[in-house]
Amino acid sequence: MSDQVTEFDAIVIGAGFSGLYTLHRLRNEMGLKVKVLEAGGGVGGTWYWNRYPGARCDSESFIYGYMFDDKLWHEWEWTERYPEQPEILRYLNHVVERFDLARDLQFNTKVTAAHLDEATATWTVATEDGTTLSSRFLITGVGCLSAWNTPDFPGIEDYRGNKYFTGLWPHEPVEFTGQRVGIIGTGASAVQAIPRIAQQAADLTVFQRTPNYIVPANHGPVPEQVAAERRQNFEAIREHTRNSAFGMPYDFQAKPLAEHSDEELHEVLQGRWDIGGLSFMVAGFHEPIFDLEANLRIGRWLDGRIKEKVHDPVTADLLTPKKLTYAVKRIPLDSGYFETFNLPHVHLVGIKDNPVDAITATGVRLADGSEYEFDSIVFATGFDSTTGTLNRIDIRGRGGQALREKWADGPRTYLGMSTAGFPNLFMVTGPQSPGVLSNMPTSIEQHVQFISQLIEEAIGRDAVVEPTQAAEDAWVEHNEVVANATLFPLADTTYTGANIPGKPRRFLPNLDTVVGYRAKCDEVATNDFEGFAFASAEG
Ligand code: NAP
Repeated sequence: MSDQVTEFDAIVIGAGFSGLYTLHRLRNEMGLKVKVLEAGGGVGGTWYWNRYPGARCDSESFIYGYMFDDKLWHEWEWTERYPEQPEILRYLNHVVERFDLARDLQFNTKVTAAHLDEATATWTVATEDGTTLSSRFLITGVGCLSAWNTPDFPGIEDYRGNKYFTGLWPHEPVEFTGQRVGIIGTGASAVQAIPRIAQQAADLTVFQRTPNYIVPANHGPVPEQVAAERRQNFEAIREHTRNSAFGMPYDFQAKPLAEHSDEELHEVLQGRWDIGGLSFMVAGFHEPIFDLEANLRIGRWLDGRIKEKVHDPVTADLLTPKKLTYAVKRIPLDSGYFETFNLPHVHLVGIKDNPVDAITATGVRLADGSEYEFDSIVFATGFDSTTGTLNRIDIRGRGGQALREKWADGPRTYLGMSTAGFPNLFMVTGPQSPGVLSNMPTSIEQHVQFISQLIEEAIGRDAVVEPTQAAEDAWVEHNEVVANATLFPLADTTYTGANIPGKPRRFLPNLDTVVGYRAKCDEVATNDFEGFAFASAEG
């Protein structure tokens, strides 16, 4: 330990998309001494842990990667329309090799605390194994979906069968053949896993609290001609992606929804449905985000698709959302999800009004006393999104204030990248940035570029930098105003924190859109980093 370097210019927490690019920027391009600390045994962040059957990204592969380096983009060939989890890990390992990152990555190192020493303006970072390291700058690249949500079901510890969590899946293959399997949750992870588990299980019971609208993924190989066109148009695709609403190179329909007859609307929606993917929404209509009647109109069209796919009318009805859902809740992508419920060995159990009462030694008991026996239970119950991972680290800034205390009523940030009282601390895709409401690599690149510019400025001025209280207050208020102009805050979702009991209900991502948010950050940088205060590093 004694001859190990423990003092750095910058410490980065997390070796996912955020941490790897931050390391490249700060070390390779700015010459800083950087260490990346990662809890997992390899790179990937959320993709390192989410190895459940069917795990793949719902962003299309041609935009799910770094775009800062033309050569990198051109030399990597994704095999299919959406990148599968193992392929994403191969891609990130390629990035590590390509930019010689491995020597500054430290795996199996879980950060437990980061405390500011105000006198020296340094961060001391503590890890689970008792090691401490220090740095002038601290950057969190912890991702929005890394704090697993294990509901507090009584008896969960006493269950004698196999327990699996989609967000913490074993590295070795899991075999369900011949088993009675139960799965709790029907979000994006479960929608991917259920058809695959159903192929193996002898009997599969799905416990659904809230139904969701789900659009076909239409996964498969990318035709060579399409791939060739994209290679040719890379620069235009990059521009479009960076200057779009959600970090995807699509635009909403130009003709207003209200001017479409039902027949015309059907034609547009069916066209987008046949193409599949998240572009159903982001190349569809924007009105459902703002206007309830418009939202319900699209919902009614989607109800019809569920009825077409699911043979049993009772099951189809149970799978149909009954309240505001479309667009304001993350749309999962489907590869045979609805059709799975036509299989005789797959059962759907609604638990909205009859919740899980306990996990028993042999299975699941619901509030009405009904019991289900399983050989394996899969918990697909999601994450304490966006703030969860940050709040699980004991981060303390000026005056020993804990970040989780400062955020007890909800996160307070400036631009989603910084927070007053925590100088030289920067968050990649933090709360009140577009984060989970965008194609993550697009947002991550922009954040890392902004943060590294800010760090360069602070170094140039030999200063510590943090947002002013006024800038933070204005940003928090701005986020509320923008969110409240939409239907998003009305829905019980991970975006509002409603999935986690006791979590303050706050709209977590920024809704200025990727292009609007980027413009705001550019304006801040151009105006001498307006809203940030630079103080002498001497204190
Ligand atoms: P999720 O969307 O939050 O879904 C969790 C599911 O568990 C929901 O159906 C939820 O019901 C249910 N649940 C939670 N607590 C429960 C309880 N106490 N009792 C019964 N049911 C409970 O989580 P996820 O599916 O893991 O997805 C999370 C996010 O990960 C997504 O929004 C997406 O951003 C990302 N993701 C991305 C991909 C991709 O790109 N391919 C794939 C998977 C996930 P309620 O709906 O009623 O809360």
